[in-house]
Amino acid sequence: MKIETQLTQLGRDPAKQTGFVNGPIYRGSTVVYPTMDDLVNRRAEFTYGTAGTPTIRDLENAWTALTGGAGTVLSPSGLGAIALALLTTLKSGDHLLMPDSVYSPSRAFCDDFLQKMNVRTTYYDPLIKDEITELFADNTTVLFLESPGSQTFEVQDVPHLTALAHQHNITTIIDNTWATPLFFDAHRHGCDLSIEAGTKYLGGHSDLLLGLISANDAWFPKLRKTYDLFAMLPGAEDCFLALRGLRTLSIRVKEAEKRALAMANWLKTLPEVAKVLHPALPDCPGHEIWQRDFTGSTGLFSILLTPGFTQQNLAHMLDHMKIFSMGYSWGGFESLIIPFDCSTYRTATQWQTDALALRLQIGLEDVEDLKADLAAGFARLHA
Ligand SMILES: *Cc1c(COP(=O)(O)O)cnc(C)c1O
Repeated sequence: MKIETQLTQLGRDPAKQTGFVNGPIYRGSTVVYPTMDDLVNRRAEFTYGTAGTPTIRDLENAWTALTGGAGTVLSPSGLGAIALALLTTLKSGDHLLMPDSVYSPSRAFCDDFLQKMNVRTTYYDPLIKDEITELFADNTTVLFLESPGSQTFEVQDVPHLTALAHQHNITTIIDNTWATPLFFDAHRHGCDLSIEAGTKYLGGHSDLLLGLISANDAWFPKLRKTYDLFAMLPGAEDCFLALRGLRTLSIRVKEAEKRALAMANWLKTLPEVAKVLHPALPDCPGHEIWQRDFTGSTGLFSILLTPGFTQQNLAHMLDHMKIFSMGYSWGGFESLIIPFDCSTYRTATQWQTDALALRLQIGLEDVEDLKADLAAGFARLHA
């Protein structure tokens, strides 16, 4: 069955839901057992709230089918999923490789918590190819990838890097949030574990927090064990909303793709815009890899302004936007814009500092309205 059809069917079974199309929200801690023998031997489909509920299981199974992994565990946030994947695959004394363009809270987790646990992190240029092997040490156990990179959208050569890692017995993890499994097949491209911040497109309405990790045969049992040890679960209602989001995920990401491309191509023509960092456009580092490996693009990209504007000009632009709001996260129905500056924290690569940079999330508003809002904003830049 095609993915669109699967999305309508995964994680629900009307015959077991008294005929209703969607399942109920199961909340609960205690599960009761009919006999002492069942209790003592924990003989039940669900044994306790932390071990899962039908609502959690439905979402896990749907995600497993969608990603082609061996199994999925959930987390209360995308960052929680990243932490859980790293805690599953690393131990004290290990060495970890992280792309310099990684989501910056992931970086904070490595530099603070993992460092205290005696795990050393080396950051690498996300566009690296064969030279990654020069960074492999005897104790390197995990290669982390995020493609495209947060804010700057470098597209990584995932199949090549994961193949080199596997030759050295190194486990590979990807943060696949931007593309979703619909536009990038992480496991088929060599990733052992794949993370999705369900907060973004799976939720799609800026009203939930959720993380998902799918893993291959080799890693799923260990991932599940770590998950059981921590018992950090998402709330039942967030899982229900994610299952609901699944039904429209395909049309929403395709619509985001169409709108973001229209906006990116228009922005390219403006005198205030020096560069558009969108994986589907040639200016984006790694664009040819996006063309080779991805089946689509989503609604988040960045632009670099032409030099000469000040922070004050930028504040004048952003403080008076009518449709674009300023705020973190993305993947909802509403358009967002934020300024960013990577030069303060990148360590393996040099981020150019002369141009002001903006990240845009294109929502479901009318594209001409969005253009007018930005055009008025660019006019304010000059004021
Ligand atoms: C937002 C985001 C996360 C974290 O998700 P939360 O649910 O907000 O914790 C992780 N990775 C990427 C690439 C993200 O954009």
